[in-house]
Amino acid sequence: MTPYKAPLRDMRFQMNEVFDYPAHYASLPNGADATPDIVDAILEGAAELSEDILAPLNMSGDREGCHFTDGAVSTPAGFKEAYAQFVAGGWQGLSFPTEYGGQGLPASVSVFKSEMMGTANWSFNMYPGLSIGCINTLLQYGTEAQKSQYLPPLVSGQWTGTMCLTEAHCGTDLGQIRARAEPQPDGSFRVTGTKVFISSGEHDLAENIIHIVLARLPGAPAGTRGISLFIVPRMNVNADGSLGERNTVRCGSIEHKMGIRASATAVLNFEAAAASMIGEPNKGLEAMFTFMNTARIGTAIQGIAHAEASFQCALPYALERRSMRALSGKKEPEQAADALIWHPDVRRMLLTQKAIAEGGRAMIYGAAQLADKLFSAASDGVPARHEELEDTLGFYTPILKGFLTEMGLEAANLGMQVFGGHGYIPENGMEQIARDARIATLYEGTTGIQALDLLGRKVLLGSKGRCVREFTATMWRLSRKHLFAAGSIGKMARTLAARAIQWNLLTTRIMLRAGKDRELVGSASFDYLMYSGYVMMAYFWALQAARAAELSASGRGKDSKDFYRAKVQTAAFYFERILPRADAHRVGALAPAWTVMQIDKDHFALK
Ligand SMILES: Cc1cc2nc3c(=O)[nH]c(=O)nc-3n(C[C@H](O)[C@H](O)[C@H](O)COP(=O)(O)OP(=O)(O)OC[C@H]3O[C@@H](n4cnc5c(N)ncnc54)[C@H](O)[C@@H]3O)c2cc1C
Repeated sequence: MTPYKAPLRDMRFQMNEVFDYPAHYASLPNGADATPDIVDAILEGAAELSEDILAPLNMSGDREGCHFTDGAVSTPAGFKEAYAQFVAGGWQGLSFPTEYGGQGLPASVSVFKSEMMGTANWSFNMYPGLSIGCINTLLQYGTEAQKSQYLPPLVSGQWTGTMCLTEAHCGTDLGQIRARAEPQPDGSFRVTGTKVFISSGEHDLAENIIHIVLARLPGAPAGTRGISLFIVPRMNVNADGSLGERNTVRCGSIEHKMGIRASATAVLNFEAAAASMIGEPNKGLEAMFTFMNTARIGTAIQGIAHAEASFQCALPYALERRSMRALSGKKEPEQAADALIWHPDVRRMLLTQKAIAEGGRAMIYGAAQLADKLFSAASDGVPARHEELEDTLGFYTPILKGFLTEMGLEAANLGMQVFGGHGYIPENGMEQIARDARIATLYEGTTGIQALDLLGRKVLLGSKGRCVREFTATMWRLSRKHLFAAGSIGKMARTLAARAIQWNLLTTRIMLRAGKDRELVGSASFDYLMYSGYVMMAYFWALQAARAAELSASGRGKDSKDFYRAKVQTAAFYFERILPRADAHRVGALAPAWTVMQIDKDHFALK
């Protein structure tokens, strides 16, 4: 397997030259410390940990998996030491408030770190990754006492966190959960029930695990309006923060999974476990959405992580492995055959991977700037600005999570394909990347659920198409600048302008039809999500290409002309070869609902 190399060159291009992160940080109240030198040192440090410590444990972790013995879980060899290094480096606290021991940097700094660490070893990344949502939930909904009791060790990484939503009979439809919480005379609670598929639910990396658990109070209304949120520590915590006795939450087993095998996925049995409520009674699901939104953007990173990892392995293989001669004549006549990279179809696969990894990175970095602004608007106390940013990020989230994880899966599969049969055996690591990538479209809300969230909640009900109008206005502003440019930049600008109009028309047509056909939203949603993803990625590719062309022409760029030319060429590949898929999704999204609903459920398979 090719050793992982953090893609710092592309990351720096995007951060500094496309999104101007230095100016962005300078404009944030908590951005003063995120100077270019500091951010660069963080990138270098995260790259080193990812390349030297985490990546070498990726394959061994997959082979060994986690071990379960009598309720205890041990992680694969090397994970404990790597996690200790992660904690010692202060990596968990990068973007959390200084009052709880963090470094108070903007949230995006953590995104850059997570991208590298997750690409190096997604299983490892799951342990600190789940804590991020737990910390954010406590920050937003915890009482002062809860914050001071739980946040410092979570922020340092000494403890980790989980999200305990899923039960055996329900994952998507959390309105069905049965776990219950009994109030105690002292104001605390006792939680009873079983949660399944809990990532990092039990392990040996940290001395305590803080479970954030959804459960029902006695007499709570049925469905989603009767769910409350609780903190259940694995080890009880004394008022002074020291550890008390073991709480009655026990790991019943861990799953044997297709991928991310070094990440422990636990069945947790809560047996009247001591708990405290977080947030208001029966408003738990609302609070949990904070958790889920953070986690969803975190999972979107998984899409680009696996695309990048798979591309990094496939490219050197395509340069070295030889097969037949190029169609246009011998390219390496001194060799017995030409390298795979001379074959157009292999190039198609490599370019698709590259376009997904770098285009997805741009989408995430664009969204990460919004997240920074959102967090600072929350502390500014300007509710209107906060609401506006929340809506915009809320529109991005299902597209990022749904589209990028589907695309990551495609890229991971293409990497295997470049290796031919050698991709299908474990020695080269390609099948592991494909197995690890598979979960991303399932957890944190399946693609189908992201699609419903996008079309139903965010576009139709929540904004009556406003979020699409706003995003397409941004597309139009970019395309307008380059409409008459020569060559591929002008062509991309004109295509982008046409797509901006088309996206609005598509949305309006669905909106009009949805009023008459109740099934339409569900029937159109997946295609609408994918259409939106392809068009959004086109904007972010056009942005990169336009910037690369400008920097190359002006000579003011920090990178080489070859780098900028390759950017424009990859963007052109995206526009010519990948973006047209949006047309098929547009047709699918406009197809009437009867196309899926007319067949009788008993006629799917007639005996
Ligand atoms: C490795 C792993 C780690 C996980 N980690 C966690 C964790 O840390 N914490 C946690 O709480 N959970 C976790 N999960 C659970 C995960 O979030 C759920 O599996 C996921 O949300 C889907 O729920 P489900 O499996 O019950 O599928 P179901 O809800 O039964 O869905 C099955 C299928 O039906 C579709 N579907 C369901 N309802 C609708 C609808 N109304 N409209 C259209 N389509 C619908 C879904 O899209 C899906 O394709 C994890 C799961 C795995 C495998």
